[in-house]
Amino acid sequence: MSRISLGLVKALRSQSLQARSTWQLRQDALPALLQTRRFFGWSSNSGDDGKKGDVPESTGTSESSTDERQSGRKSKRTSAAAQEGAIVPVKQDGHLRKDSSGFEPVCMALPLFGRPLFPWHNQLIQITSPKIAKEILSLTENSKKMTHIGFFLRKSMPNELPKEGEEEDLLPSAKLEDMSGEDPMEVLHNVGTIGRVAQAVPVWSPKDGEVVAVQMLVQGAGVVRLEKVLNKGPPLQVQIAQITPEEWDGKDEMVRATMNETILTVQEIMKVSSSFREHAQYVNQSLQQRNARVQPDAVAHLAASLTTAEGAVLDATNPLDKLRLALELLKKELEVAKLQQKISNQIEEKMSKNQREFMLREQLKSIKKELGIDKDDGSETILQKFKERLEGKEVPKEAKEAIDTEFEKFANLAKESQEYQMTRNYLDWLSSMPWSVYSKDTFDLKKAREILDRDHYGLADIKDRIREFIAVGVLRGSMQGKILCFVGPPGVGKTSIGKSIAEALGREFYRFSVGGLYDVAEIKGHRRTYVGAMPGKIIQCLKKVQTSNPLVLIDEVDKIGRGHHGDPSSALLELLDPSQNSAFMDHYLDVAVDCSNILFVCTANVLDTIPGPLLDRMEVIRLTGYDLQEKMKIAEQYLVPNAMVEVGLKQKKAEAQSEVQVQKVAEEVEKSEDAKPQEPEPEPEVKAEPKQLKPEVKAEIETGAIESLIRWYCREAGVRNLQKHIERICRKLATKVVEKWEDKSQGTSSKDTDATGDAIDPSKSEVIELRVDEASLSEYVGKPVFTSDRLYEGQLPSGTVTGLAWTAMGGSVLYIEATALARRRSDPDKPATAPPMLAVTGQLGNVMKESSQIALLVARRQLQARGKDGFFEEHELFLHCPEGATPKDGPSAGVTMTTALLSLAMKKPIPTDLAMTGEVSLNGKVLAVGGIKEKTIAARRAGCKTLIFPEANRRDFDELPKYLQDLVAPSPSEFHLHFAFDRGLLIEG
Ligand code: ADP
Repeated sequence: MSRISLGLVKALRSQSLQARSTWQLRQDALPALLQTRRFFGWSSNSGDDGKKGDVPESTGTSESSTDERQSGRKSKRTSAAAQEGAIVPVKQDGHLRKDSSGFEPVCMALPLFGRPLFPWHNQLIQITSPKIAKEILSLTENSKKMTHIGFFLRKSMPNELPKEGEEEDLLPSAKLEDMSGEDPMEVLHNVGTIGRVAQAVPVWSPKDGEVVAVQMLVQGAGVVRLEKVLNKGPPLQVQIAQITPEEWDGKDEMVRATMNETILTVQEIMKVSSSFREHAQYVNQSLQQRNARVQPDAVAHLAASLTTAEGAVLDATNPLDKLRLALELLKKELEVAKLQQKISNQIEEKMSKNQREFMLREQLKSIKKELGIDKDDGSETILQKFKERLEGKEVPKEAKEAIDTEFEKFANLAKESQEYQMTRNYLDWLSSMPWSVYSKDTFDLKKAREILDRDHYGLADIKDRIREFIAVGVLRGSMQGKILCFVGPPGVGKTSIGKSIAEALGREFYRFSVGGLYDVAEIKGHRRTYVGAMPGKIIQCLKKVQTSNPLVLIDEVDKIGRGHHGDPSSALLELLDPSQNSAFMDHYLDVAVDCSNILFVCTANVLDTIPGPLLDRMEVIRLTGYDLQEKMKIAEQYLVPNAMVEVGLKQKKAEAQSEVQVQKVAEEVEKSEDAKPQEPEPEPEVKAEPKQLKPEVKAEIETGAIESLIRWYCREAGVRNLQKHIERICRKLATKVVEKWEDKSQGTSSKDTDATGDAIDPSKSEVIELRVDEASLSEYVGKPVFTSDRLYEGQLPSGTVTGLAWTAMGGSVLYIEATALARRRSDPDKPATAPPMLAVTGQLGNVMKESSQIALLVARRQLQARGKDGFFEEHELFLHCPEGATPKDGPSAGVTMTTALLSLAMKKPIPTDLAMTGEVSLNGKVLAVGGIKEKTIAARRAGCKTLIFPEANRRDFDELPKYLQDLVAPSPSEFHLHFAFDRGLLIEG
């Protein structure tokens, strides 16, 4: 490989040198030189009357040209001489003869660069040194004989090449021709070629008409040795000696064979190389013509002239050596030519393929046009649109390839074809992906706190967790690889906090729910082969938000389904898993999409149903429900103001929302505006006649009303239901405002109070004042949903215990009722031996059923320990949990059931204000349970003063906010909190 390229470089280098020394022909010299081509048999034009290679030897040129020069017409003279064909040909054997051909042992010598002149060969040589050029011209014009010049190859170029423009009049080569500053014996090869100047054409300076160069056609005549330098010149004068080649008797087989091989190689080069073709043809013809009496050295020289040969061929005197050297060079040249041809073929092939495609495409277009298929279907415009979308986006390599392929396909599809629409949709999706488009994260803790506080009351722990999360992001510089999961009852702000995080981070927000989702295609997309195929949710999200790093909220991960269309939870895992999602594969898109920069936030009501592998990768943040106090604050500070703004009873004021009492703020505004000229105040956004002056509206929901609303209408853990109720009240308020307003505007002055008892002051007719208090609440939201917190008022019957339960909606009080009926015994004197029977009712789940069995066992043991055996065996036992329509499950009622059974057996009623929770093991150990906060709130609501929790839950109770702990125990004497130990807690005595 390196050898080939070296050869190539070498070839190119010597060719460029060649070009510099020989082929710098001027335009005006061309006609004369063309003439010489004819003479030397280079062209075979028809009507060529001169016989190729067989022109009579004559020296007439110089004579006639001398005469004409005297008449002063230089250029015409020379070309005229050339047209006469009066150029002395080379002798057939190519050897100089001292006598007849005017060979002189003393002659002018000129250096050649790169490649020697060979005997038998004609070469154009340009001399750019004005002095030497003039000398040559005077020699050719004055001498009656042919001018002979010795040409010797320079061994090397001088170290310092003259810089261009150094001497303005001289070309760089002119300096090289001038040998006066060097030792020619050192610098030149001592074997060279004597050449006959067949023609010399002067080149004049356009400035002053002086001769500045000469172009000569030189015929190589014979090999000579440089004997002595006579005068360094310029021009250089030397003494030379002729080198006569060794005689060949024409019998040596080796020589003949080598000669034939050389001729064949020349012919081969001719076929391969177009650049050599003409020259090689000439050489070939020369060889053919002289085949019979050909000389080995003539063949060698002609062949070598084809190559980028150096002087070695000239130096050899043995015919076989000479031929071998020439053949070697020729073979190398053949290799280079072949390589050249290969390269050019390859390029040509590629070019022609492109051209062919282009041609075919054009033809296709015109065919389509002819057939009327191509009715400017707008494909171009669509393609253009897609391309514009992709501008400036850094599309990954894989996607780029897919897009390019589709573009190409789309351009050739007929609009009517089904594939057209499919490809178009696909390209639409591919081009509208936000490839490498990212929004900048704002890692600003202060701003994050502001936004979280603005939107949510309380939730201090959660807000801190989120701030920690952002702080880690600040340090790491990215939020990559994190999945947050908010777990808690509905309406506690899981979704809205996700939205606030997105805003705090400055990311786009997108939400989708996977609740009840059973088809993998919803997440991973359909394959494109289906009709109406669509990409999955996440790709839809990216298209919508147009950034590659949004915050995606996946709702209800605990309710993800599982159908016959694969397992969506594994697809979700693939999407969420930080180790997989950098190359998420959507079935529709079919190219990898980087989802690793998306911040995933999931929400769930319970943890149990979240698939394990998914849960493993999540950072779980629990949101417990709100108690009355918290709900009051949320309602007053967030829900009521927002609802008022929503229905148009108030104007949106960011500052007002942060105030505790919106009404107070309104009053302040009112006061401050009293001083100013009267302007219409916050007005309801209701359709009204524009000409009327809008009255001032003062609407308020009193704290008492809010409390009753929470107490008797909205008991669930979250605030969504509360929000709905408040909105309902506000809508009703708005209706009333408009009604009153209309009454007033129609002149039907209203009474002092209206039917609902709302006060209307007729003296201040511009002010409409509405107030919702505890008493009027039912007019707005109907009768209370809950009438009492307790099922039992007064003393509980023995066997009935207040338990505490936790549901997805929050905490609640759960009664356990146990009763017994005496068993009929076959022999009333004998004690009963049959195992006790316990029937449970009330939609209890498996775990709860098992709990009841354990409770019975523990109760029996407790009873035995107290020496009161036999009750359970002698009675049929029934256990029921009221609200039989509601399914219940879980182990936390173990303690309650045991207590109920013991209370029944011992006929000891349990205090009404005592509530308990805890799981019981077979050995009577009490285990920790969940939902302490919710249960505490529920117990308090039910008016329980004594709570019994498992000892293991002491930590949970201690972690409750202080006010909740206090709330449970308003005064220590009144309230008893027990932590149950394994034994002795249940019933004393
Ligand atoms: P979830 O997703 O938990 O079911 P949402 O986030 O949809 O609940 O919340 C329901 C409504 O309750 C929202 O309007 C939200 O603003 C409001 N909300 C919930 N918690 C709070 C809070 N702590 N402060 C203010 N508003 C809240």
